[in-house]
Amino acid sequence: AKYTGAGFALAVSSGSAALKVALAAMGIGPGDEVVTQGFTFVATWEAILEVGAIPVFTEVDQTLAMDPVDLKKKVTDRTACIVPVHMLGGAADIERIVAIGAETGVPVLEDTAQAAGGRVGGRHLGTFGTCGTFSFDPVKTLTTGEGGMIITDDEELWRAMSEYHDHGHDHLPNAGGRGGEGRHFIGDNYRMMELQGAIGLAQLAKLDAML
Ligand SMILES: *Cc1c(COP(=O)(O)O)cnc(C)c1O
Repeated sequence: AKYTGAGFALAVSSGSAALKVALAAMGIGPGDEVVTQGFTFVATWEAILEVGAIPVFTEVDQTLAMDPVDLKKKVTDRTACIVPVHMLGGAADIERIVAIGAETGVPVLEDTAQAAGGRVGGRHLGTFGTCGTFSFDPVKTLTTGEGGMIITDDEELWRAMSEYHDHGHDHLPNAGGRGGEGRHFIGDNYRMMELQGAIGLAQLAKLDAML
């Protein structure tokens, strides 16, 4: 969070888990459509299918990411989320995409798996939308072996993501002590290990030099 300037960050077990946890915590599920782009890694639409939603694909433009002109045609009253993917270290036309999201009232999730540390106008990719997801798998710029991260400025969304990735346990301060917590929904286990976190902190210190 400190590195990207986001309000909150949640470490998870993979970039795929980051996408699924974020979509689930945003309440996206069966019957919803999620608009993403045709050119991406399979995990983007696997996560959409995982939460029971329907992926809808846009064309890409010269950024190699989501074409905002085609996005406008693909957003309908069933669209629950827009997921542009910053491909191959480059940036999507993220300001225009976020503006379309704002106009239509649809949240934007930036799949930033391939662009950790990338910036537009000095601002980190992943901080333009409602949330941004990262992958730290072995072929990504920054790796923890396997791992992922979600960043957001929305504290309520961060708390929902935190609870969902930890079996739905309430993550309120003093929620009742060990075993005493309640739950609002059923979650699953997408927790990052502390060992991976330690590797990630060492990698993060080198990220700007690696870029
Ligand atoms: C690698 C990747 C993911 C998935 O990350 P994993 O950590 O391998 O699960 C998601 N989206 C994109 C665009 C990726 O390149």
